[in-house]
Amino acid sequence: MTETRPGWALIIHGGAKEIEPGDEQANRDGIREAAAAGGRVLADGRSALDAVECAIRVLETLPVFNAGTGSALNAAGGIEMCAGLMDGRHRSVGAVTVIQDVRHPISVARRLLPEKEILLAGEGALLFAREHNLELTLEESLRSDAAPAQQEHDTVGAVALDSHGHIAAGTSTGGLTGSRVGRVGDSPQPGSGLYADDRTGGVSLSGDGETIARIASASQIIARLRLGEEPGGAIEAVLSELPEVGGEDADGGAIAIGADGRIGWNHNSPHFAVGLISEGMNEPGVWLAKSEDTQR
Ligand code: ASP
Repeated sequence: MTETRPGWALIIHGGAKEIEPGDEQANRDGIREAAAAGGRVLADGRSALDAVECAIRVLETLPVFNAGTGSALNAAGGIEMCAGLMDGRHRSVGAVTVIQDVRHPISVARRLLPEKEILLAGEGALLFAREHNLELTLEESLRSDAAPAQQEHDTVGAVALDSHGHIAAGTSTGGLTGSRVGRVGDSPQPGSGLYADDRTGGVSLSGDGETIARIASASQIIARLRLGEEPGGAIEAVLSELPEVGGEDADGGAIAIGADGRIGWNHNSPHFAVGLISEGMNEPGVWLAKSEDTQR
């Protein structure tokens, strides 16, 4: 049977978390802005990688999301960020962790993609950003009074399928509030917080990073897609393992696109801000919670 490949599609998330009523509009607006920006990239015939980077850069700019500007503070009151990007064409990975003083961690990850190394940490990641003239900033400017209460998960992420049939996935986060200095969660780790493979699909997660990593969540979701499961169901099955491994507070959310163009998401956190745009849509759909989820 021949399936016609659908056109391009982009799905993004603003973190598995609880959204305070006062933050709902900012979440909705930010997700809509980022999805629309990434959607324009795909509509122009550009790559899934470009769209994922573009959407995440918008989210990193907005203080309501815990990534880039507005990142959570660690136990020492500092900001250490992580980001990861994966190119499904050849399964290449660029990721940074415990990076400080850069405005767009996702763009540092993007620049690392063609290199042999897949993950740079701390000083080395900052040195790499400097060497490649990526935008540096002072920690003060990444702090924001407008940042959310900062106790909850809030990583941002995106998955895109471009009109050439290529898939990319990305994540960016300020990590968890009050975490140990040097702590690394799932977000920059391929197979945990993200994965992309043109043959199968792409996925990006948010939530309890240690637990997500312990069950290799992204690779498990990809394995289920490979068996033909639809993305929403594959995600639901994997997320259901989180409490068993990490305790009842271990929650998360994920977005995915299959190589066949099927799109899905799911979460077991109170909220999960999601934006979706695909070929033929004039503007993105935006959902903040399960009660609003109409498509999986
Ligand atoms: N997964 C991220 C981490 O553990 C947190 C989040 O999703 O907000 O660093």
